[in-house]
Amino acid sequence: MRRFIFIFLSLSFCFFYLNSAFGFNIVYPRKEKVTINSPRTFFIGNENPEKFLYINNEKVELYRTGGFKHSVELDYGKNKFIIKNDAGKEVEYVIYRPEQVNVPIVVKRNVFTPSIYGYTTDKTILRVSPVDRGLNRLQQLPSGILLEIIGEYGDFYDVRLGRDDNAWIAKNQIILSEENDLSGEIFDKIIEEKDNKVILKVFTDRKLPYYISENEGLDLYLFNVKNAPFYRYEDSLPQNKLFGYTSYYTEDNVLVIEMKKPPVINKTKPLKNIKIVIDPGHGGKETGTIGCLGTKEKEINLLLAQKLKSRLNDEGANVYLTRDDDEYVDLYDRVDFANNLGADIFISIHNNALSDSLANKDISGTEVYYFYPQAKPLAKAIMNGINQFANTKNNGIKGESFAVIRNSNAVSVLLEVAYMINPEEDEKLSTPEFQDAVIEGIIKGLENYINDIQK
Ligand SMILES: [Zn+2]
Repeated sequence: MRRFIFIFLSLSFCFFYLNSAFGFNIVYPRKEKVTINSPRTFFIGNENPEKFLYINNEKVELYRTGGFKHSVELDYGKNKFIIKNDAGKEVEYVIYRPEQVNVPIVVKRNVFTPSIYGYTTDKTILRVSPVDRGLNRLQQLPSGILLEIIGEYGDFYDVRLGRDDNAWIAKNQIILSEENDLSGEIFDKIIEEKDNKVILKVFTDRKLPYYISENEGLDLYLFNVKNAPFYRYEDSLPQNKLFGYTSYYTEDNVLVIEMKKPPVINKTKPLKNIKIVIDPGHGGKETGTIGCLGTKEKEINLLLAQKLKSRLNDEGANVYLTRDDDEYVDLYDRVDFANNLGADIFISIHNNALSDSLANKDISGTEVYYFYPQAKPLAKAIMNGINQFANTKNNGIKGESFAVIRNSNAVSVLLEVAYMINPEEDEKLSTPEFQDAVIEGIIKGLENYINDIQK
């Protein structure tokens, strides 16, 4: 009997707890004392929707699930917030906003006369501007390429490419050298087809700097070529037919570009035999965003990824997950996994939050990101599919330099399905109907993309 009472009490405790009878639960900010460097932030969490909740005496709007997102302005220094409900629970948050100290950044651009010289190291990044930002990357170069350095700006060298072009490289990626003869000759080029690849080989007598542009198909530019401003090779493949490629130098100075051919498709099952890697964002110690009701992004990402995998298996695709458990996986391990498998398509699944500074904006819906232009048609197709099947708002197909989509050789996109910090979208994300609709939308998008690439 005693035991029975105990169980009864525990159950009722759970029941009341779930109904927040004892009060609200704040999931963001994650601590009661925090520093937030923004003119505003928000309180995200949940409370029994039948109760009332106040933040500094202002009534908080509770969604029918009890979820809330309440934006507040921040002054410089300490900001106190008293959060209380009508059941008498009261908690104080102190949010510190640092004073803006405007230190002018003086970086002088020096021109070197005469020029100095140096070799690239492994994975040296050529950039269009002297800033460490993802989207200004031109190309990642292998080691052993001699370059002429014509100046510096902050932590970057200004490097001359051929006669008329230049690019920027972080100083710590260059090994200075006394050598100064950098021009090379191109002897020959060949194109061969092997397995599912078209392979371009350019034979030179030394490793020359290059970059590959996807503007109108695949263009290859080689610089520091003897007696020419540059060497250009234009492939006849239009941009929307690109299906992933890699580039590297062999030891005997052959530049190799391997372009994967679009698959020959099965008319009734267009995804049959397509190799797809699904990457559930975050995991383990890395929670990702937390929704109003306390759902962790890493959990919903994994659930969606597992559902997508099982549906794609029905369609005959070869599907792999970068994690199938609640474990931490490094971003570069996710990329290596996909590259080693030779994946055709890479889809990273995430759910969204807003930055503090956008706390007062009403932003919702689905976002799809790509880095290489070759992935834009896939991003569009998946966006359309999700909008159509799950009825989400199109919040944009955007170019962004996320490590997982920038470094993977497959056609790669990153999805932000919905905003977990919006009470409405948080509720939807937890329903199987919505999850399944999102999955069907992604499948439709993949099918349309594969069918289009065949045309
Ligand atoms: Zn995420």
